[in-house]
Amino acid sequence: MSVVVSTQPVSLPPVDGSVAEFATAFREWLADNAAVLEPHRHPLPGTMAEVFAHEQRLRRLLWDAGWTRSGWPPECGGLGGDPLLRGVVLEELAAAGYSIPESCGLAEIIGPTILHFAPARHGELAAMLRGDELWCQGFSEPEAGSDLASLRTRATRDGDRWILNGQKIWTSRGHIARRILLLARTGTPESRHRGLSMFLVDLQTPGITVRPIPCADGREALSEVFFSDAAIPADALVGEVDGGWAVAMYLLQFERGNFAWQRQAWLRSRLVAALNEPDADADAAAEAVGEAYLNLLALRATSLDTLRRLVAGEQLGPAISVVKVLLSTTDKAVLDAARALMWPRLEIGDEPGTGVWRQEWWFSRMASVLGGTVEVQRDIIANRVLALPKE
Ligand SMILES: Cc1cc2nc3c(=O)[nH]c(=O)nc-3n(C[C@H](O)[C@H](O)[C@H](O)COP(=O)(O)OP(=O)(O)OC[C@H]3O[C@@H](n4cnc5c(N)ncnc54)[C@H](O)[C@@H]3O)c2cc1C
Repeated sequence: MSVVVSTQPVSLPPVDGSVAEFATAFREWLADNAAVLEPHRHPLPGTMAEVFAHEQRLRRLLWDAGWTRSGWPPECGGLGGDPLLRGVVLEELAAAGYSIPESCGLAEIIGPTILHFAPARHGELAAMLRGDELWCQGFSEPEAGSDLASLRTRATRDGDRWILNGQKIWTSRGHIARRILLLARTGTPESRHRGLSMFLVDLQTPGITVRPIPCADGREALSEVFFSDAAIPADALVGEVDGGWAVAMYLLQFERGNFAWQRQAWLRSRLVAALNEPDADADAAAEAVGEAYLNLLALRATSLDTLRRLVAGEQLGPAISVVKVLLSTTDKAVLDAARALMWPRLEIGDEPGTGVWRQEWWFSRMASVLGGTVEVQRDIIANRVLALPKE
């Protein structure tokens, strides 16, 4: 879908003022542009490609008006300012009743990683940040999910190229993405996490095949990616040779910070939306709503703390696994509350809009697996944060 409305800003967003001034200015812009933004009030049902095309319109509007350029540095097309401004835009957008584009999640995880590890690639980031391209994350393999360090997809140096062979799985939105941030083995099979390197790869490279995977939420949200003698340039490397583990661990911090923040903003707006459904029975669902609200508060507090520490340049330790646990419990609690509020419609209804609720409920069941399972996070908390005895 092409953007038909030009909303050139009279002035650029106030990125040098306080966060509060920025938030106020954005709220005013949202009010002034309500008619243009109206199609983005509700999540759109449809295929991932249709949803992304719809999101692109909103993302380009926000980028071209300067709002989502705020908090990103000029070298990737940004306007500068405090990186926290990015979180303000997404939270205010959701609070005003608009959808947070799902593709913003990957941008907020991959973007800071490329900024940190690939100075030569900063200029290319604008295509993802404006929403022109979707980039995805290729870590998991059929026998290497929780035990990521055992992955086998191989990158072999051949002159001024790398040759890729192997397979990734569970790649979110891989089949509609243009690039993949790929973790591959460059060391010996036994080298575990010391023999991995990260690459930013064009998915249109000959030798790469992407197949979508249908999911329980009714969409093809995930993909398998196959590499068969796919040749990529030497400068596709992100970070150091055999330094991919450090890149992956750096990236995961942004999943626990930036992504968790935007997810709580979105889930909070969904709880409000569920409470405002015409048939919502708040008395019958009181316990589920209370549970969801408590989870939201905890996720909000911990993800904000994580965001602030990331902005301050801190390297975060294993304690951020707590945010990942809260991410999945909150996702489930909010959608369970919606299910209780709309009982039994969310389950069996075919009224307009119900399908999206049902799809979101199904997705919330997957939230305890993506980005590292809750069981593994609890292991990390028990062993490395609380130092509990093994038994
Ligand atoms: C919606 C969704 C989106 C995803 N998106 C991406 C993506 O974009 N890119 C990507 O690379 N991957 C992605 N993944 C994959 C995800 O990271 C893996 O599924 C996850 O790391 C688990 O790996 P696995 O599926 O191989 O399960 P396994 O590692 O085989 O685990 C199976 C079960 O064993 C348990 N288990 C394993 N080890 C331990 C342990 N040490 N202690 C306790 N329990 C344990 C697990 O908790 C789980 O219940 C996505 C997954 C989902 C569901």
